[in-house]
Amino acid sequence: MLGLMQDWPLLIHRIIDHAAIQHPAREIVSRSVEGPIHRTDYATLRRRSLRLAKRLEREGVRRGDRVGTLAWNTWRHLEIWYGATGLGAIYHTVNPRLFDDQIVYIVNHAADRLLFLDLTFVPLVERIANRLETIERFVILTDAANMPETSLKGAVAYEDYIAEADEDFAWLSFDEQTAAGMCYTSGTTGDPKGVVYSHRSNVLHSLIVNGADFLGLSAKDVAMPVVPFFHANGWSFAFSAPMAGAKLVLPGPKLDGASLAELLIDEKVTISAAVPTIWFSLLQNLEATGAMLPDLQRVVIGGSACPRAVTKTFRDVYGAEVIHAWGMTEMSPLGSLCNLKPDYGDIDGERWLDLKEKVGFPPFGVEMKIVDDENRPLPWDGVAFGRLKVRGPAVARAYFHRDDEIIDADGFFDTGDVATIDPHGNMQIVDRSKDVIKSGGEWISSIDLENIAVGHPDVAEAAVIGVPHPKWDERPLLIIVPMPGRTPDKDDLIAFMGKRIAKWQLPDDVVLVEDIPHTATGKIQKTALRERFAGYRLPDA
Ligand code: ADP
Repeated sequence: MLGLMQDWPLLIHRIIDHAAIQHPAREIVSRSVEGPIHRTDYATLRRRSLRLAKRLEREGVRRGDRVGTLAWNTWRHLEIWYGATGLGAIYHTVNPRLFDDQIVYIVNHAADRLLFLDLTFVPLVERIANRLETIERFVILTDAANMPETSLKGAVAYEDYIAEADEDFAWLSFDEQTAAGMCYTSGTTGDPKGVVYSHRSNVLHSLIVNGADFLGLSAKDVAMPVVPFFHANGWSFAFSAPMAGAKLVLPGPKLDGASLAELLIDEKVTISAAVPTIWFSLLQNLEATGAMLPDLQRVVIGGSACPRAVTKTFRDVYGAEVIHAWGMTEMSPLGSLCNLKPDYGDIDGERWLDLKEKVGFPPFGVEMKIVDDENRPLPWDGVAFGRLKVRGPAVARAYFHRDDEIIDADGFFDTGDVATIDPHGNMQIVDRSKDVIKSGGEWISSIDLENIAVGHPDVAEAAVIGVPHPKWDERPLLIIVPMPGRTPDKDDLIAFMGKRIAKWQLPDDVVLVEDIPHTATGKIQKTALRERFAGYRLPDA
């Protein structure tokens, strides 16, 4: 016997319909690529998305076609997500920070038919245009007045393009399992791999992460996703904010500390999200200017481990709570967020900071386990560590046009991370399995050492890699970027770290560098550091 409830497929257009009906005047504020602050609202955004859908249909874009974007977070980028998916087409966010060859590979592999690009990326696309095999049309996200001279064939200004259609369009209806979005993982090894989200997975994921213990967005919130829409499905903000009726603040191309501080203050942002490096530069800027953030309540930090010092500064100086988040492109992307269960009782101070270094527990809809090399489950005692595996309705089961089996017999996906889980289910990422330092049969977490090192006042950024050692196989090398004008002393730094971690885990050596390389998603590029320090000899090696 079937239930007698209505058939209401979980399609993405329902999100923007809801926002336009219930929160029509709630603002979407963007720093435009052209410069000025731009203001619109959910009702207008929906109308313009309908117009775009109609224009795309006239272009011959059909269900399953890929529409590429090389774009910052702005209202226009949001319209592409809703316009394309409302037609059954697929938004495909391309990360402009990748190398040209990777961008060419990704666009060709996804077989994007159209490419929507910001003014910023016109030179990039001109460089690679003759290698893009499937692009039929370039649409530049601007108006006629700001349209540049370009060699891109048939390039049209977005505002002219959508003006060629009206908004008299009805969203198409189809199976909720239909593909909706694509995002390629950075591919630190091998070719980038395409993750394909469905309407159902995106809608469920946004509902799931909007739970009170997770992002918990509400109509009262003002949400600023600094994390770009092209990084891991934009951490779901493009869906979860309109779903909740939260005001959206989109930082466009300017992600420096001063520009972000201005938006946080002027727009009264209550919740924001980004990778740690963004927050380092924001905090440095705030410290220099003395500005405060009176409205900011929650700061979602993920993508890489959030150092304790950052959590502490937000709490003690700015009165905002850091929500440490873990996830990955393959998980839509949020897997767990560190809001604490009541099991720990009343805690504050250092103990609270200890727990906030972990990445929390998963919401309903994400199942987790840690296993040993034989795939046997490990205990949740906060000590045993092993490979972290996950499953759920918004977790990938395959990559686009690849045959690799990525889930095990029980349907679990191996995240490539090594983790512990404590008796209350609070998970801690020890390391990426390829970054952990194997010293004499014991494992040392590079993440732990990095987090401790950046707590030192002279250290702006820290990275730890394993370098070969004749006796111990590998030992940790600490690489740091000093704070401007400071020259930290090696012994002083090691002594500082020695107060927080066992002696055998301390780095064997420290090198000072001007900068640390980052990946296209703002993470420390360990592969590049390992190459750079390939011949490095430790003092006692
Ligand atoms: P990329 O394309 O850079 O791989 P992802 O966002 O998909 O982008 O990367 C996911 C990986 O990032 C995770 O598997 C994990 O190793 C790392 N990661 C994410 N959040 C955290 C965190 N809070 N602490 C430590 N590592 C994290």
